[in-house]
Amino acid sequence: MRCPICKQPVTYEGNPFRPFCSERCKLIDLDNWLEGRYCVPDAAGEKPSRREPTGEDNDETGHDR
Ligand SMILES: [Zn+2]
Repeated sequence: MRCPICKQPVTYEGNPFRPFCSERCKLIDLDNWLEGRYCVPDAAGEKPSRREPTGEDNDETGHDR
């Protein structure tokens, strides 16, 4: 078994942080996971609640034509 974060061999038995080698790697993984979770909807949704000039520009172009 290896730590998915630092790729070090991990002792599974009696290891409270398994499958990670230490609490630090566990926190790093959790952080990555949370970051990815927050990033995914932001990248996929692409500004449903954000006002950008792109939308206005598009509207103007359509109106002009
Ligand atoms: Zn590790």
